[in-house]
Amino acid sequence: MVVVGAGFAGLYALHKLRSDGLSVRVFEAGDGVGGVWYWNRYPGARCDVESVDYSYSFDPELEQEWNWSEKYATQPEILEYVNHVADRYDLRRDIRFGTRVTDIALDEQTLRWEIRTDAGDAVSARFVILAVGPLSNANIPAIEGLDSFDGGVYHTAHWPHESVDFTGKRVGVIGTGSSGIQTIPEVAKQAEQLYVFQRSANYSVPAGNVPLSDEDRAAQKANYRERRRLSFLSGGGSPHQAHPKPALEASEEERREAYEKRWQLGGVLYSKTFPDQVTNAESNDTARAFWEEKVRAVIDDPEIAELLVPKDHAIGTKRICTDANYYQTYNRDNVTLVNLKATPIESIDAAGVRTADEHYEIDALILATGFDAMTGSMEKLNIVGRDGQTLKQAWAEGPKTYLGLGVAGFPNLFNMTGPGSVSVLANMVLHSELHVNWVADAIAHLDERGAVALEATPEAAASWVQECSDRAAQTLLPTANSWYMGANIPGKPRVFMPFIGGFGAYGEIIADVAAAGYKGFDVIEAGE
Ligand code: NAP
Repeated sequence: MVVVGAGFAGLYALHKLRSDGLSVRVFEAGDGVGGVWYWNRYPGARCDVESVDYSYSFDPELEQEWNWSEKYATQPEILEYVNHVADRYDLRRDIRFGTRVTDIALDEQTLRWEIRTDAGDAVSARFVILAVGPLSNANIPAIEGLDSFDGGVYHTAHWPHESVDFTGKRVGVIGTGSSGIQTIPEVAKQAEQLYVFQRSANYSVPAGNVPLSDEDRAAQKANYRERRRLSFLSGGGSPHQAHPKPALEASEEERREAYEKRWQLGGVLYSKTFPDQVTNAESNDTARAFWEEKVRAVIDDPEIAELLVPKDHAIGTKRICTDANYYQTYNRDNVTLVNLKATPIESIDAAGVRTADEHYEIDALILATGFDAMTGSMEKLNIVGRDGQTLKQAWAEGPKTYLGLGVAGFPNLFNMTGPGSVSVLANMVLHSELHVNWVADAIAHLDERGAVALEATPEAAASWVQECSDRAAQTLLPTANSWYMGANIPGKPRVFMPFIGGFGAYGEIIADVAAAGYKGFDVIEAGE
C-alpha cells in the first residue's frame, strides 16, 4: 500500500495497516509528520476542536499518557503530539519525507497503481490511500504584481519554520477567514502598523481557551471511553448536545440564556446551540442577532463595527471562526481595516498594496487567503484511472465519490476525509480513524474472498452525490459563497462538497454498506 501524506489520517493508516500485515510506504512532501499542523505555523494557530477530542482514540494507553496543557491546543503542541505518536509506534521508518508524489497511474491489466515521486521513486502498489487533507492546497490569489513585492510574503499555510518578527514593521494581511482572524491579533501586538485588507466579513466567536488543570485532565481521562462513544455517534465528532428545543420553540429568555452559555464557553459550537440553527432562516437569525449585539459592544468605532458585521451570509453557513480578542484588535491605534468591497485591491508593487483609492506602503505581506479546499490536493496528484481518465477530468463538474471513500474508475484507491464524506464538518482525527478502519475491513474482506479489488460503481457514486446534494439543500449552507461550495476559487464548480448528514449517521451508513457485502462497490475477482 502507498499512503500519500503523513498527517493524522496518513499516520493512522500506516499504523493500522502495517499492524494488519500490509507492507506500507508513506510519501510526505514535508520534512516532518503532522500535515496541516506541520505547515500552518502562523502566529496564533490553534485548533478549534477541544484537544481531548482532537486526538487519537485507537489506543487507550496513548490517551492516558498524553497530557494536553490547554482546552484548545496550539499548533506547536499538536505537532509535538503527532511527533510523539510517530515515535511511539515507530512510524518514521516507513515514511519517505521531503518527497512529493507526482503521478499515480492505474495499470488496467494488473489493477495495480504505479506511483512516481519528485525524488525519482517509482513503486507499484495494490492499494493507494489519499491522506492529503481537505485544507492543504494553499490558495495564492491572482493579484497583479504580487511577485514584484519587495518585502517578505507569508502564506499562513506555508509559514516559515523559524518565527517571523514583525516588530517595527508595516504589515498587510489579506484575508479574514479562520487563519486571518487568528493571525491578526498576534501580529497587531508586534507590528508598527497593521493594514487588514478585508473582502468579506466573517462571523467569529470567542475561542474560550483555558489552561487545563491536573483535575481537568484527570476528569477527562477517567471519562474517555464514554466521550469517544458519544463522539462517534455525534453530528460533528465531539460529544456536543444541542439545546433540546428548536430555537423558535424556546422562549426569548431561554434563547438568550442558551446563547449566553455557549458564548461564555466559547468555540465553534455556538453555531450549533439550537438544533435548527442552520436549517431554519428565522432560527438562524436569532443566533445572528445575539452575535451582533455581543460583537458591536466590544468595537469602539461604530463605522468599523459596521464593516466587521457580515451582511452576505447566515451565521454558520461558512465555517464559523474562533478568536482571542479579534474584534478588540480594531480598537488599537496601529490597526487599520481596509474595506475591499468599497475599494478593491488593484495591484501589488515593490512597495505595497494599491487599492482603488490608496497606496499602502508595507514591509511584509501576509496571505491568509485559504485553500483550494477538499479537491485541490487530490486533483494535483495527476491520478490516472481507467481509460486514461484523470481524477481531475472525472471531477470536472464537481467531486463524484461513493461515500467519500471510492471513485468509479479508480479501483483500490481510497480517499480519506475528502469530498462526499463528513470531512471538514467533523473532528478530523476521529474521522480519519473511521475511514482507515473501514478501509482495513474492506481489505480483509477482499483477502478473505481471494478478490483483487474494490471499485465504486458509477450508479452508486451518482446516487451518493445526489444524496449529499439533497441533504445540503435541506440546510442553509448552500446559500453562502463558501469554500464548502468551491466558491472561493474562480472557475471551480459550485457543489456543496461534504456530506452534511452528521458524523454518527455517516458512520452508520458506511458500516451498513460494508455489512451488506460492500453494496455499491464491485468486488473484482482475479482474472475478471
Ligand atoms: P478562508 O476561510 O477561505 O479565508 C480566506 C480569506 O481570504 C477570506 O477572507 C477571503 O475573502 C480572502 N481572500 C481570498 N482571496 C482574496 C483576494 N484575491 N483578495 C482579497 N481577499 C481574498 O481560509 P482560512 O482562513 O485559511 O480558513 C480555511 C478553513 O481552514 C477554515 O474555514 C477552517 O475550517 C480551517 N481552519 C481552522 C482553524 C482552526 O481550527 N482554528 C484555523 C485556520 C483554518 P472572501 O471571503 O471574500 O473570499
